[in-house]
Amino acid sequence: MPPRQPSDSSKGKAGVSDVYASMRASILRGEIAPGTRINIDAVSRELGVSQTPVREVLQRLEGDNLVVYSPGRGYSTTPLLDLPALRALFEFRLLVEPWAARSAAVDRLANPAAALEKELSAFRAIMEVGGELRQDLVAHDTRFHDSILAAAGNPVVRHAFAQTHCHLHTFRLYPADIDGAITVAEHSAVRDAISACLPDQAEQAMAEHIRNSFYRFSQAFEGAEDLPPLEDSGPPRRHIVD
Ligand SMILES: [Zn+2]
Repeated sequence: MPPRQPSDSSKGKAGVSDVYASMRASILRGEIAPGTRINIDAVSRELGVSQTPVREVLQRLEGDNLVVYSPGRGYSTTPLLDLPALRALFEFRLLVEPWAARSAAVDRLANPAAALEKELSAFRAIMEVGGELRQDLVAHDTRFHDSILAAAGNPVVRHAFAQTHCHLHTFRLYPADIDGAITVAEHSAVRDAISACLPDQAEQAMAEHIRNSFYRFSQAFEGAEDLPPLEDSGPPRRHIVD
């Protein structure tokens, strides 16, 4: 690691990213419960930093939709997704991501197979070490899906997907598939189809991964066993609703 520059600005930046990582992890792990008011003074004392980086971090977390600001109350953590919100999020993913996987599989130049394999082998190595995997799984899943969105070549779609912060919000719900093995198997199927430039298979493998992920995360809710499965086309269903 290079030695720290003694200037104030570099110290400030390191402070902000450390505080951001620490607070984000606490919210994701539920150590700061949903709906909790954040006391800036208490956080800065606890982390041994001034209030300035804490305020900056809270603005970043607001951009992630992990905290919300209200006048008079200040910052508090956002509530967890409820079941309709989880479903809406996965319907959006089902519209966008199988399309992205298909697009990635038909462009040999932009094909992300090498990056996907690198990502998968790095995560497999982490799994072998064992221990608490949730943060690593969130990071792996975020990068894996973003690589495919990036390769699909439509920056508007990629941005819209990133704006949902879907990984942060779903992993906040429940440690689904916490050992990561199922996720790795499903990701490998997507990677194989993209690598072989098989658009139909890539689309199918991604759709299956999204449906299965929805099912895994929905287990956080009571009565989720009776949920109807996600449909390919989202809310505009095959029959007209009277
Ligand atoms: Zn995934």
